[in-house]
Amino acid sequence: MHTTAAAIERALQLKEGLEPGMTELQQDEDRLRMLKEAIDSLPISAGITISNLDGKIVYANDAECEMHGYQPGELLGRDARILAPPPGGPPAPRLDPARIGLWKRECLNVRKDGAEFPVQLTSTPIRSAGGRCLGVITASEDITHRKDCERRIEHLAYYDTTTHLPNRTLLMDRLHQALALARRERRTLALLFLDLDNFKDLNNTRGHEVGDKFLQEVARRLSGAVCGSDTLARLGGDEFVVVVNSEEKAAAAVAERLQALFGEPFLIDGEEIYGSTSIGIALYPGDGCDVETLFRCADAAMYQAKSHGKGGYQFFSREMNQSNMRRVALENGMRQGLARGEFFLHYQPQWELENSTTTGAEALLRWESAEFGTVCPDEFIPIAESSGFIFELGEMVLREACLMAAGWGEACRDLKVAVNISGRQFRQPDFLQTVARIVAETGVRPSSLELEFTESVIMERADNNIDSLQALKRMGVRLSIDDFGTGYSSLNYLKHFPIDAIKIDRSFIAEVTNGDDAAIADAIISMAHSLKLRVVAEGVENAAQLDFLSERRCDEAQGYYFARPMPAPDFKAFLRERVGEGARPPGGQLAKGSSRPR
Ligand code: C2E
Ligand code: MG
Ligand code: MG
Repeated sequence: MHTTAAAIERALQLKEGLEPGMTELQQDEDRLRMLKEAIDSLPISAGITISNLDGKIVYANDAECEMHGYQPGELLGRDARILAPPPGGPPAPRLDPARIGLWKRECLNVRKDGAEFPVQLTSTPIRSAGGRCLGVITASEDITHRKDCERRIEHLAYYDTTTHLPNRTLLMDRLHQALALARRERRTLALLFLDLDNFKDLNNTRGHEVGDKFLQEVARRLSGAVCGSDTLARLGGDEFVVVVNSEEKAAAAVAERLQALFGEPFLIDGEEIYGSTSIGIALYPGDGCDVETLFRCADAAMYQAKSHGKGGYQFFSREMNQSNMRRVALENGMRQGLARGEFFLHYQPQWELENSTTTGAEALLRWESAEFGTVCPDEFIPIAESSGFIFELGEMVLREACLMAAGWGEACRDLKVAVNISGRQFRQPDFLQTVARIVAETGVRPSSLELEFTESVIMERADNNIDSLQALKRMGVRLSIDDFGTGYSSLNYLKHFPIDAIKIDRSFIAEVTNGDDAAIADAIISMAHSLKLRVVAEGVENAAQLDFLSERRCDEAQGYYFARPMPAPDFKAFLRERVGEGARPPGGQLAKGSSRPR
């Protein structure tokens, strides 16, 4: 464009001297003619037009005609406005010679067929030798390609390449603007922080291609559900943000609407994939007045939502700030804790009610942290799950428990050690190999190992789980469903799962001697027996509960009434004392026909 402008500049200077004996008009026409000839002879690719003071085109080179879809010569005598949208707009006003100067601008031009395209225009006045303005010469350059590149670069900078949603940079920009506006107009604003549940597992088990398609589908559904004035962005990974101009009640309604989008499975490569999202919500101005604070609050609320079970939403509260800080500190402290040997197992005996013998123990993980003191598993297991540290921790638990059982003598050959397996461990693609490797390395009898899966873990994607459970069964390992009654179980799956036992959740046992919980425990025992499964009651704390369970022919029990979880040396001593001499609950001698310790 610079070379074009320079060439025109030269052409304009072609004839400064006046031919003697010529009228002013002749001189003007002569000047224009020479100018056109000069332009035609110049090697320039830009379109050039000359328009007179009435706005009529008096010259257009071939490049200009071609660029706008006209035949050579077709533009002559037409209003210059024909080249600018809207086509056929009002005729150009007569140019004011006094106001014409050199100008440059980017704008849209229109082709003969009506298609618009971006151009860069450079115009400069043509003056007579005496300085009068004769018209305007304009060079136009089609900048479609450059604009496309600019758009692409902008897209890369501000939009996420997988989902094409605004990225973190654009979100921050919009959020700052939205906050400034809300402040000025004294309005509220809600920031919803979405984190997809179990997305990392989907990525690990099905591969990144499926993961990306899932994210794209999620983005498509979310886009359809937020209105134009709201901002939807992908922060990265499995995190999305929605900013809405709403107060608390409306924000809750938005969260519910977004979660409802996950009600239907996502069809990816012909396969149905189920998903859910946990949402944390922070409100402006209640929770914070700046972008960083609102993000921190929404993030803390999101973690809280996750810890209450997947697929829920939670508003931020002050207490969360502290619990979030603790969560981060625990997450960071865990790795060091494992290296320092702060994690170890306790064993809680399980009892067969009919013969009052011990059937083995459940291995329960403990963390005695130098920094945090005793941290209970209900707090650190979910954190280890969400950070992925559960893989290392879970492998250590499995190895320790297997080593313990491998050390039992012949007298204990029918005993088992039960190990809790978290959802993420089970969904690891190499979970089966890990179990097989640890069984082989520790030399434990596979039938001495029982793996406990919670009801929700085993029922989620139940179809896929059957194969894995059958493979474990073929290894000779025992399987049980933990915390039964707290989730949703399909009886149809229960019938087909190759499991050995179900453990009634301790919340039902706590109230088993009255009302509804008695009926539930009763129903679970009957149902399990009809499916030929053993039933273990968890959390038995008193004689009345034990009596109830014995009457209902519950097979096994575990709870403080019999024994609290104990360190490995104590459990070994416990076994030495009891196995072989007719193991009895520590409560004392058993009455004949009764399993109640006295
Ligand atoms: P769970 O698998 O249902 O384990 C039983 C829990 O009940 C244990 O809590 C145990 O100490 C407690 N308990 C036993 N008897 C009684 C009783 O009579 N009354 C009451 N109130 N509680 C009783 P704990 O050790 O705090 O473990 C809590 C949960 O943490 C476990 O529940 C399990 O889900 C998880 N967990 C523990 N160790 C591991 C592990 O190694 N891996 C995984 N993935 N999860 C673990
Ligand atoms: Mg358990
Ligand atoms: Mg349990």
